Amino acid sequence: MNEERVIEKAFVGLSRKMSGRVFRDVSLAKRVTFRVGGPASILATADTISDLRLLFQIVERYRIPYFVLGKGSNILVSDKGFKGIAIELGPNFKKISVDGRYIQTGAAAALSTLSQVAWKNSLKGFAFAVGIPGSLGGALVMNAGAHGGCMANIVNTVTVYTPNCELRVLNKTELGFGYRTSSLLSYGIIVEAMTRLEPGDPDRIRFLMERYFRRRKEVQPFEYPTAGSIFKNVSGISSGKVIDEVGCKGLTIGGAQVSSKHGNFIVNLGNAKAQDIYSLIGEVRRRVYGRKRILLEPEIIILGEFEDEQRNS
Ligand SMILES: Cc1cc2nc3c(=O)[nH]c(=O)nc-3n(C[C@H](O)[C@H](O)[C@H](O)COP(=O)(O)OP(=O)(O)OC[C@H]3O[C@@H](n4cnc5c(N)ncnc54)[C@H](O)[C@@H]3O)c2cc1C
Repeated sequence: MNEERVIEKAFVGLSRKMSGRVFRDVSLAKRVTFRVGGPASILATADTISDLRLLFQIVERYRIPYFVLGKGSNILVSDKGFKGIAIELGPNFKKISVDGRYIQTGAAAALSTLSQVAWKNSLKGFAFAVGIPGSLGGALVMNAGAHGGCMANIVNTVTVYTPNCELRVLNKTELGFGYRTSSLLSYGIIVEAMTRLEPGDPDRIRFLMERYFRRRKEVQPFEYPTAGSIFKNVSGISSGKVIDEVGCKGLTIGGAQVSSKHGNFIVNLGNAKAQDIYSLIGEVRRRVYGRKRILLEPEIIILGEFEDEQRNS
């Protein structure tokens, strides 16, 4: 069966049971913060575990690739799009419940909402997440962090739905957390997680949240679409600083530019192609390596096909 036929069969199979929540050839550009990228062959919104079971059955039956789209704030999707199923989690996966120091949260809940919930319940440890525009699921995969805090510090358990169609509760030691990484993608789809926080003074928590948010506004280019930091810091050295030192701030390819405000941010000036951003990432890496012998590693997830090109600097 050719690829198109497989996709069509998968679409028909999903539509039978998830009618109104499965679509063909949906542009991902509007669903990612970079505002670039081509279509997903199929976009499905799963709102129950039964939906996820069906999705995995279809993935298995037709050997079709899939990925889960959180809030799309750490991802660069190719202009050619994604040939497979993009899965979004629906409102049922946004529930939040607080029990003493524990907060049980669906994977689709916004990280910044969670940060607010923790503050309102006088729980400290989540202030770092204010202003990080991701979902809980994406934040766990990336071990998102800022201001000295990160998800690994506050997570207790994560519940995943595995490709074998089993719900599995993982404890922290199984999550493979590292700097902006985890092993969670290897388990399947994150459906919920429990964080454990410590009691704190709400005024102090609010003070920190405001301070962190102000700091973001000062240093980050909020006026253009971005995906946050492009590269990981290297052994504690700020990638933004290194990029600045080699004179890459303002470097532009097509509609993509290294922000003049923050060297580790690439912005979409409005008409960028995903390929422009990808090429700019490559160019910055080449220049930094050429001048500093530092190999920058992308922090963002790069999805789909891109052309690699060699440029002379
Ligand atoms: C302006 C701006 C500022 C930012 N600041 C920070 C910062 O300070 N610190 C920081 O760490 N990051 C930052 N980021 C990056 C980003 O917000 C975080 O990495 C965020 O946690 C990603 O979450 P998301 O829901 O957008 O994930 P997405 O980008 O949608 O996905 C990221 C990865 O997680 C996977 N995924 C998402 N949900 C699930 C799920 N339920 N199950 C399985 N896999 C899943 C996706 O398939 C993908 O591989 C920033 C981004 C922007 C645009």
